[in-house]
Amino acid sequence: LLPGPQPTAARPTTLGVLGGGQLGRMFVHAAQAMGYAVAVLDPDPASPAGRVADVHIATAYDDEQGLAQLMQRCEAITTEFENVPAAVLGTLAAQRPVAPHAQAVAVAQDRAAEKAHFAACAARTGVGPAPHAIIRSAADLQRIDDTLLPGILKTARLGYDGKGQLRVQHRDELAAAWQRLGQVPCVLERHLPLRDELSVIVARGADGTLVALPVQRNVHRDGILAVTEVGDGAVDPTLAQQALDATQAIAADLHYVGVLCVEFFVVDDGSPSGALVVNEMAPRPHNSGHHSIDACDVSQFELQVRALAGLPLVAPRLHSAAVMLNLLGNLWWRDDVAVTPDWAGVLALPGVHLHLYGKLDARPGRKMGHLTITAPTLAQARDVARTAATLLG
Ligand code: ADP
Ligand code: MG
Repeated sequence: LLPGPQPTAARPTTLGVLGGGQLGRMFVHAAQAMGYAVAVLDPDPASPAGRVADVHIATAYDDEQGLAQLMQRCEAITTEFENVPAAVLGTLAAQRPVAPHAQAVAVAQDRAAEKAHFAACAARTGVGPAPHAIIRSAADLQRIDDTLLPGILKTARLGYDGKGQLRVQHRDELAAAWQRLGQVPCVLERHLPLRDELSVIVARGADGTLVALPVQRNVHRDGILAVTEVGDGAVDPTLAQQALDATQAIAADLHYVGVLCVEFFVVDDGSPSGALVVNEMAPRPHNSGHHSIDACDVSQFELQVRALAGLPLVAPRLHSAAVMLNLLGNLWWRDDVAVTPDWAGVLALPGVHLHLYGKLDARPGRKMGHLTITAPTLAQARDVARTAATLLG
């Protein structure tokens, strides 16, 4: 699907996206920069992507009329929201190219299916999921092996940013924890001694071509991504290669088309570098890849456009080391009084790129934007990031 005006068409080639959050907004920016028009389907009339799209269809994700309109307007359709009903992607795919496909999204939507897929790939990659058990009934809770405790009980579906998770220290807390999570299907994972967290973002084409962003190092606070680092010194090269190989297998075995992010733990196993464990995947661009807009010559969002449109996938090159800082709604509040962050101070620092998502309601914990700090070396980027974080309080 070539961009821009076509000799015989009345309108530019239009790409569709399900979901109107910040990931969709940055997809819209990348697609429009290349000459595509974009239609966004999201029920929220003020959604970040809906506000910058050429067309905003403000209906529910499973609204028949909304979906019919999307199919009629768009030459190809993707998603930025992994909890869009997978069946909807299947319906759309009967009429239009859809990437990623419904089966891959269905696996990513369910921690139990996701872990089964990771375990199946582990035979080849040597990188498996955390020790875990699937909880579907009270009887499953009785059968839990003591080696899984202390553990984390996670709902199989709909969790994000650490939501839908509870720490469980002892066996006698299990039933109450499962009750608090609504007795929905869950996964109990052993709580692992994390040394570090990594993520790998790849784009895979229908012909099997796969390109990857540089492997990212991630720091989470309260279950929410806080900082991502890339560049020389961010990640041990041997671990990076292992994570890349594992991601390639995970994507290939799903016949994945589009942008995929796989998150890894580096677990303390007594060895000098630690051991890799695969945590979860997202069938879309990822918060840990936002640096690619400013630090790479091809961003994760341009890769999403290219994969969807069937354009060549070229390997992104990192031209600067980078530190990405998430900007949560908390920054707009001090002692319960609304404040404006010191943008002028932050933007006076070298290599600072400010991205705000156009959300008007700065609730604590809400992702409002991010800063990417680019520099010739990671040490320099870290220095500036520290100063920026201090200015923002
Ligand atoms: P989410 O879908 O909310 O991102 P994750 O499973 O990635 O859920 O968990 C969020 C964060 O919680 C992880 O990035 C990690 O910091 C921590 N965490 C999750 N599972 C474990 C575990 N088994 N052991 C130790 N820490 C964990
Ligand atoms: Mg996660």
